[in-house]
Amino acid sequence: MEDGKPVWAPHPTDGFQMGNIVDIGPDSLTIEPLNQKGKTFLAVINQVFPAEEDSKKDMEDNCSLMYLNEATLLHNIKVRYCKDRIYTYVANILIAVNPYFDIPKLYSSETIKKYQGKSLGTLPPHVYAIADKAFRDMKVLKMSQSIIVSGESGAGKTENTKFVLRYLTESYGTGQDIDERIVEANPLLEAFGNAKTVRNNNSSRFGKFVEIHFNEKKSRICVQGKERGITTLLPAKLYLNTDKQILQNRKSPEYLKAGSLKDPLLDDHGDFNRMCTAMKKIGLDDAEKLDLFRVVAGVLHLGNIDFEEAGSTSGGCILKNKSSQSLEYCAELLGLDQDDLRVSLTTRVMLTTAGGAKGTVIKVPLKVEQANNARDALAKTVYSHLFDHVVNRVNQCFPFETSSFFIGVLDIAGFEYFEHNSFEQFCINYCNEKLQQFFNERILKEEQELYQKEDLGVNEVHYVDNQDCIDLIEAKLVGVLDILDEENRLPQPSDQHFTSEVHQKHKEHFRLSIPRKSKLAVHRNIRDDEGFIIRHFAGAVCYETTQFVEKNNDALHMSLESLICESKDKFVRELFESTTNNNKDPKQKAGKLSFISVGNKFKTQLNLLLEKLRSTGSSFIRCIKPNLKMTSHHFEGGQILSQLQCSGMVSVLDLMQGGFPSRASFHELYNMYKKYMPAKLTRLDPRLFCKALFKALGLNENDYKFGLTKVFFRPGKFAEFDQIMKSD
Ligand code: ATP
Ligand code: MG
Repeated sequence: MEDGKPVWAPHPTDGFQMGNIVDIGPDSLTIEPLNQKGKTFLAVINQVFPAEEDSKKDMEDNCSLMYLNEATLLHNIKVRYCKDRIYTYVANILIAVNPYFDIPKLYSSETIKKYQGKSLGTLPPHVYAIADKAFRDMKVLKMSQSIIVSGESGAGKTENTKFVLRYLTESYGTGQDIDERIVEANPLLEAFGNAKTVRNNNSSRFGKFVEIHFNEKKSRICVQGKERGITTLLPAKLYLNTDKQILQNRKSPEYLKAGSLKDPLLDDHGDFNRMCTAMKKIGLDDAEKLDLFRVVAGVLHLGNIDFEEAGSTSGGCILKNKSSQSLEYCAELLGLDQDDLRVSLTTRVMLTTAGGAKGTVIKVPLKVEQANNARDALAKTVYSHLFDHVVNRVNQCFPFETSSFFIGVLDIAGFEYFEHNSFEQFCINYCNEKLQQFFNERILKEEQELYQKEDLGVNEVHYVDNQDCIDLIEAKLVGVLDILDEENRLPQPSDQHFTSEVHQKHKEHFRLSIPRKSKLAVHRNIRDDEGFIIRHFAGAVCYETTQFVEKNNDALHMSLESLICESKDKFVRELFESTTNNNKDPKQKAGKLSFISVGNKFKTQLNLLLEKLRSTGSSFIRCIKPNLKMTSHHFEGGQILSQLQCSGMVSVLDLMQGGFPSRASFHELYNMYKKYMPAKLTRLDPRLFCKALFKALGLNENDYKFGLTKVFFRPGKFAEFDQIMKSD
């Protein structure tokens, strides 16, 4: 940064503002904003970044900029967004800003055709280009591929995932029924797995990894006139994890009241019809459809059941009068006996161990709040079993044959932190910590390997490894998850005791601290045994641990479990058959088996997923939500900047700024520029041609390096060189 050259300095809402340096202090700079002459302010040195000379220009690949830093990235994305160019590359990573309106023709079938078989970078950045690269990599490298789509709620993950699936089926599908079914599975899964939240009207409440399997059938189908063996699309298999968040954040007594149901932007009637069409395509007959609707209705009526104090000495509760109709409906729809349901919701079977010997089973009346919890727990379990069933049915409709390779698309919630963070945020951030490690491994490793392969003699690139943070969460015995499980197994588990144990076991851990040390006032009055702060790669998050113990337990209390397993309704019974343990001894069940760990199940599934990702080639799509209002043409810089930081993009830029992010093969350069050169030069072989060309132009030797097949450029230098060539 030099005097007189514009810089980017922090701005409270826009992220950055352009200004000039007017004074330099020991660790701060005095900045005069460009649009407020005479009004100076101080900025910390390492938060001020050099700006590009031409601030109106945008680049398809951010690495073509001269200065790679968070400010120029943010600005490049902004300039492009203002022209409805929502996609931008940072090398091979795709950034996708949610436009919140349909950009004409952006996803049309003509556009799909344009991207087929084209290398990344030859056409404007697009999610289709990423999909096509995955397909070509799969074919050429003979290796399965994964596309990891991340971003916060409402950023456009699910929409982009659907575009990938559509692109692949339309371009490389069988041309038969099955293509349609892959696309149609979505409205069905969304109908059961999505919900309207404050952040997104159609928010996925489950993470998913969709695999499309391909095989090498040498069918003689002609594609665009060329006769060749084409890859046909095999029945897709959908692997999904439910995270049991459905119905979790309800506040009002009726499960659907949580948000306003009528939304002018949503076409409920149309969506319902789409879902019914999807059900038909997937192969559900009317009876099955009715089964699904019946259980949903049963759960909704269950949610309308309310309790009040019994008013006797028992301390228990009874159903409110007005709830009797709901009880009746619910019981009927779920095939339960009304009285059994009532008793199971208001009492709990316990095993007394008093007196040593064998315990006796007794019924303990529940307080109003406990009965509310029991009702919600039952609703959640029934609904999540139902969702699992829908997922299984979707998978069944793709008869699975042999497959050579697959392309998997991961659509999963990104790093999140709110004013209050609980067990859900803890799990999702743990997941993102793991995905971030994978991202680092891939991006850095690939970069390193390429430098080595091309014999560039560049030093190793370094980055902050987050293994210590992952260990803090998942290590055996001392990890937070295991400490929590241990707490759950105690006769009287408590959130406070668990929290103290965490602090106790990790007193000096770099990644862990007590809420009182938080920068934010809201956290500072949280007691040491009420929460902990974890320093994630994307920032510090304070987790409040009330309810951690409860949320970590997936076991229904025994009265509810046996109730549902003995339903007269075959469909309901079957929903539970595969998953519940067969141990029917009530005494045993009321004792030890009352704990099923949510955290450890999550960990197991996550590690399986990562194992799978590691065995594939990978591409990354980082989705960005432009504003909180969910409207088009509105760019909230500060918000977007923090998303870029959370997605690990800023550390990628640091890496690139120190390396050689733009590259082109000798051949490419030769073909691109030979027309500008005298004939004598063009007789040289491409490598020599490039050498001679660079010499003639007097390029600075620090700006580029010759590899074995490619020239590598320092940030922005390729674009500069390209400009010189074309302007001459
Ligand atoms: P969540 O984590 O809550 O599931 P998400 O990242 O999956 O969020 P989406 O459901 O994909 O978010 O997107 C939210 C809404 O934004 C969509 O319903 C759609 O209205 C709009 N949207 C997203 N991407 C696009 C796009 N490329 N073009 C037009 N509209 C879009
Ligand atoms: Mg989604």
